[in-house]
Formats: sequence, structure tokens, C-alpha cells
Amino acid sequence: AGFTVAIVGRPNVGKSTFFNRLLEQRKAIVDDVSGVTRDRQYGVADWNGKSFNVIDTGGFVAQSEDIFEKEIRKQVMIALEEANALIFMGDAATGITDLDESMADVLRRTSKPVFLAVNKVDNPDRMLEATEFYGMGFDNVFFISSMTGSGSGELLDAITALI
Ligand code: GDP
Ligand code: MG
Repeated sequence: AGFTVAIVGRPNVGKSTFFNRLLEQRKAIVDDVSGVTRDRQYGVADWNGKSFNVIDTGGFVAQSEDIFEKEIRKQVMIALEEANALIFMGDAATGITDLDESMADVLRRTSKPVFLAVNKVDNPDRMLEATEFYGMGFDNVFFISSMTGSGSGELLDAITALI
């Protein structure tokens, strides 16, 4: 029960770093759910006096490029089913990749709120590069650094406004 937010995005964009920071900071509980959900991590976060469930996706090991992409798509579909809102994470250090585009295609079709979080915006130079993500066409775009914590407050304000 409760409001659930899933973090999706291709590998290495920083989903788990953000997830851990979110839960650590708010002293929330991380739970390993066994069985079908072993490739995902579940936790509870608190922000502005509101609690919500967070799912970190992407803990699989891919055997080949094809399986890789298929797996990621599958995880996005599962996340879409389970979550009330999604954090779609991008990486300002690498910019937009083909895999980002293909995930964005899936996410644009959902009626659930999608928050595009461009991660690794650690400094002003990165911010300049990160603006290309506006071109992906999502209404809610946030620039964050899971390393420094910058920008995450605005993102969490926007998410908790839905609860
Ligand atoms: P995931 O595969 O999406 O879960 O990505 P991880 O959380 O495992 O992070 C992938 C790499 O990016 C790790 O080496 C992190 O330390 C690094 N990373 C995560 N967030 C940031 C950030 O805000 N800035 C920088 N510079 N590196 C980051
Ligand atoms: Mg991860």
C-alpha cells in the first residue's frame, strides 16, 4: 500500500547511488524481497513528512546486447505496473544514448507521471551539457547530483506533491 516511485534508467546512470542516498538520509528501511523481485530493491523514503515506497531497478547481469535491452525494457514494464510515478534517470556525463531513447519511447506512452532526473550534474559545466535532456520532451526535468545531493530536494518536492 502507499505511494510507490520506481527509479528506472540504463545501467550506470546512478540509480542505486540515488536510491541509497535517499534511504540513508531519511533513515528508511531497505528490504530485500525474495523470489520474483530479486532484481529489484525496495525501500521506504520520507520527505516533508510524507512517506513513499521506492523501487531501485536494474540489478541484473546481461549476457548479450540483445538480452540486455530486452531485460531493461522488461524492468521498465514491471516498474510501470508497480509504481504510481517514475523517476527516469539520465547521465549528464555521457549524455543521451540510444538506450535512453528507447526507454524514453516506452515511458512517453505511460499515463503515470515521469520525472526525468538528469544525474551527475556535479558542477556548472555539467549543467551546460545536461540541458540537451530537455530535448527528450518530458515535462518534469530535474538536474541532480547523487554524489553531492544537489537538486534532489526539488525533485523530491515535486514527487511528494503528488501524494
Ligand atoms: P546504476 O547502475 O544506475 O544503479 O548506477 P550506480 O548507482 O551503480 O552508479 C554508477 C556509477 O556512477 C558509480 O561509479 C557511481 O559512483 C557513479 N555516480 C552515481 N551518481 C553520481 C553523481 O551524481 N556524480 C558522479 N560524478 N558520479 C555518480
Ligand atoms: Mg544499480
